[in-house]
Parts: sequence; C-alpha cells; structure tokens
Amino acid sequence: MNKFRTLDDVDVKAKRVLLRVDLNVPMENGHVTDATRLERVAPTITEIADKGGKVILLAHFGRPKGRDAKESLKPVAEALSGVLKRPVGFADDCIGDAAAQAVAAMKDGDILCLENTRFHKEEEKNDPAFAAELSKLGDIWVNDAFSAAHRAHASTEGLGHKLPAYAGRSMQAELEALSKALEAPTKPVIAIVGGAKVSTKIDLLENLVSKVDALVIGGGMANTFLHAQGVAIGKSLAERELAPTALRILDKAEASNCAIILPVDATVAFHFAAGSPSFAYGLDAIPPDSMILDIGPQSTARIHAAIDDAATLVWNGPLGAFEIQPFDRGTMVAAKHAAARTKATKLVSVAGGGDTVAALNQAGVGHDFTYISTAGGAFLEWMEGKPLPGVEVLKVR
Ligand code: AMP
Repeated sequence: MNKFRTLDDVDVKAKRVLLRVDLNVPMENGHVTDATRLERVAPTITEIADKGGKVILLAHFGRPKGRDAKESLKPVAEALSGVLKRPVGFADDCIGDAAAQAVAAMKDGDILCLENTRFHKEEEKNDPAFAAELSKLGDIWVNDAFSAAHRAHASTEGLGHKLPAYAGRSMQAELEALSKALEAPTKPVIAIVGGAKVSTKIDLLENLVSKVDALVIGGGMANTFLHAQGVAIGKSLAERELAPTALRILDKAEASNCAIILPVDATVAFHFAAGSPSFAYGLDAIPPDSMILDIGPQSTARIHAAIDDAATLVWNGPLGAFEIQPFDRGTMVAAKHAAARTKATKLVSVAGGGDTVAALNQAGVGHDFTYISTAGGAFLEWMEGKPLPGVEVLKVR
C-alpha cells in the first residue's frame, strides 16, 4: 500500500481542521438508536481538540433531495456531544455565511458540526466549486470516514485536491487492518464468502481467487456453484442461470492455485421457518422438495481444518440463513472457531459487510476478531480490489 499521511504528520494546534466523519447513524423519532459510528470517530475528534485544533465536522445524513429538516444533522450532533462528553456546536449550513461565522467564532479545541453536506446537490456531483467553498472553512482536511470512501463526493474526495489531506485514526486503523488482510498478508490466506447471491459478488469472487490460497464458498451462493457442478439442489435458493459464471470462477481459481472449498453436505428443511425440522444430507441425497439452508456437519469440519491451516482470514457473508435457527449453526460454529484461533494468536481475522457484522455479533465474537469493518459498500469494493477514491486521494504521491 502507498503511504498515506496521518495525524502524526501534522501539528494541528490552532488549525481549522475540516474532519470528514461518518455520522450516518440509525435514528428513530429523533433519537439515535445505535451510537457505534459515533464511538468510532470519537478518538480522532478528541485527539485533534486536545492538541488545540478547531474540529469542524463534515458529514452526510440519509439521502435528502435538497434541504430537508427530517435529515438534519442537529440531533446527531447532540448525541455526539453526549458520547464525547463535551459541547458540540452546530451551524445550519456547511457553506456560506452561517458556516463561516460559526467557524470564525471557534476557539482552539472547540468542536463544531456543520449541517448535512447532501443538502447541496453539488456534494454528490463532487463539484470543484462546492469543494472550494468548503475548503475556505479549513486549513487542512482529515478524512475519517472509510465507509464513505467508495464515493467520490466533494467532502469525501474533492477536498483532498484543495487542502493538505490526512487520514483520521479510524480511517488509519481500517486501512492498516485491510492491508494486513489482503495487500501484505501473512500466508496462507483463506477467504470465507457467503450470503444469498452470486450475482452481487461476482467481482469479489474473481478478485479473491487471484489473491487467496483457499476460498470457502457458503450460503445461498454455494447452491449456484453446486448446481453448476450437477448436484441436484431441490428447491434451494440459487441463481441457476449463473451456472456458467460459477464454472468460470472455478476455472480461474484452478488457474490461480486457489483451493475452492464448497459444501460437501447440507442442512436442509422442507419449510423456511424458525424451528422447522432440519436434516443433514449428503450432496447426492438432497430431497427434491427440500431447501438447503445451511452447510452440514462435514462441511463445518472441513472449514475448521482450512481455518487451522491459514494464517490470515478475510470473511464476508453468512454460511447459511443465519437469522433463523437452527440454520445459523454453520456460521456460528465457524465464527467461534475463527475467534478462538485469533485469540490463540494463530490467525489474523478481518471481517466486514452488514450481515457479517450482525452474524459475528450473534455468535458473540464481535470483539474477538482482529478487525471488524462496519463499512458496507466500501468494504465490499475493497474486497473486489477496486480503488476507493476517498483513500486514493490520501496517498502520498
Ligand atoms: P448477503 O446480503 O448477500 O450477504 O446475503 C445474506 C443473506 O443470505 C442472509 O439474509 C441469509 O439469510 C441469506 N442466506 C444465506 N444462506 C442461505 C441459504 N442457504 N438459503 C437462503 N438464504 C440464505
């Protein structure tokens, strides 16, 4: 990975620091229901404030079409103040007089949140004139929003062309963890990819087979691969029309010396409902009117052995329909095993993606992986090997 500048490379004292953060938290009735994202950005904010910088927060919230009180960042700024246990000022706009006056009134160490950047359509267009307006408010730009780094917007990318650019601490931690997992990993590397569909993860699978030593494919997407190999999968969820794509990925894996680990047995049910009786079958005996909803016990044992052989693990997607018991079993058992190997310092484990985070938390191992990324789209694009504009702009050239 090219080097990028961090807060270690700048003296922020008395500087106006435009800090791009992810404040896109879930809200209900005007209250923040999950403060995880606020907790993640807190260390960067307090570090800059404690060093005497003026912290000017830039963020988007929701998908407003123009100015919309329902998508104001004001209640989020209040919740952030609660997390930080310090005052957070608020300006009703992110450019213009309101913003300029609020910034001019700041003292060193103060924290100010500017209104939703997406109230201006120029934000998502990455309009250089809009980025120039934003840049007037700061001396430097710090990007701490990895989860928005796959978007080239004015506050996530454009500002990097207007002001000296640095990675915040949460961005830095994310980039260092991801680099350890795929760019400069300790080998052998294993990837586990699950989830519902092949169609949403074709790029990801193609990139992984050229980078990792072993790839476990589970979940609904494994059914498409099994079908492509001629296994009768009954009424299982599958994208049967993608059989040629699955075979192409298997060929590419072989050419790249990547071992593919597909299920060798399955947990099936006749109804997709909690508590529905479930049965383990070999792949040659899946009843025609049943559905594969999880990997079977022999597959779980194979995955354990493969994890034991690996030094690094990258994981995205559940191995079965984990929201419904007992079809969470394969995912839970594999997650606990990977967590135990990590705790025993035998494995570097990195996981990400919405459902994956939920599944690992359900397994009670949310704190036992080396790193869990809460970024959805940005994490997937990184796994696909795509350059992330909000990261590229931070690199030292
Ligand atoms: P994704 O968003 O692509 O990661 O897919 C996650 C979803 O895939 C979860 O809601 C799981 O319940 C679902 N899923 C995983 N395995 C299966 C399966 N064998 N049959 C049906 N749904 C599955």
